[in-house]
Amino acid sequence: MSADQASSALSVVNLTKVYGTDIAVDRLTFDVRRGQTLALLGGNGAGKTTTLSMLLGLLTPTSGSIEVLGEDMIRHRFRVLGRMNFSSPYVDVPHRLTVRQNLLVYARLYSVPHPHRRVAELAEDLDLVAFLDRATGSLSAGQRTRVALAKALVNRPDLLLLDEPTASLDPDTGDWVRSYLETYRAATGATILLASHNMGEVERLADDVVMLRRGRLVDRGTPADLIARYGRTSLEEVFLDIARAKDASTDPAP
Ligand code: ATP
Repeated sequence: MSADQASSALSVVNLTKVYGTDIAVDRLTFDVRRGQTLALLGGNGAGKTTTLSMLLGLLTPTSGSIEVLGEDMIRHRFRVLGRMNFSSPYVDVPHRLTVRQNLLVYARLYSVPHPHRRVAELAEDLDLVAFLDRATGSLSAGQRTRVALAKALVNRPDLLLLDEPTASLDPDTGDWVRSYLETYRAATGATILLASHNMGEVERLADDVVMLRRGRLVDRGTPADLIARYGRTSLEEVFLDIARAKDASTDPAP
């Protein structure tokens, strides 16, 4: 194994998902070094959620390979699933269970030592103490997003996959969650893969950005590199150029 591979938390080669005649993800190749945050960007339908689902082992790729924390994810996913976790607004927890009950279920599924202590710690960190014994279904969307984040962190994952982690949060709570993720990463050295439509969030959190269009990787770089390369002042403008199919190499922005 090369030094490069050893420092990769995630390595994806020619990853492809085909639905009938539609290619949702098309020969995607990228890697994420340990401790880094990579953002997957792309318009609606670009293939972000499909990619995250394959990385989690929820969807079987049509072809290609995925290595997570040094393990072949397609053949040996049970060796690494315990070191990964995710949050997504598309995955819900049972509404009738209390927040505490839901988090305890996940703590036990991940065989977390001292599950009650871990849930109390997360409730403290994520400002959920007042909600712990309320039915999860009675919480607001923003409060439920914090529960989803607590669930994603319950096993102290080395690799965290986040699908739009601040969707539906007010600006203040969104900012608070971003700060929390920065602190978590600094404290644990975790690697984060983030799919987001919030360009300010990506500029703040991501070391590196992969731009997808119709399932294909169309550009990659640090937020600052991309902004400079496209001659723009923000990632939002770069995103619009790419989504509208301009190409930095052939059609530089005015
Ligand atoms: P968004 O930003 O809207 O969430 P996305 O980048 O996450 O989009 P995906 O959900 O990965 O995009 O979808 C990629 C493509 O795959 C889309 O064209 C979508 O219609 C298609 N697709 C996703 N799931 C299925 C499925 N189960 N069956 C058929 N096509 C699917």
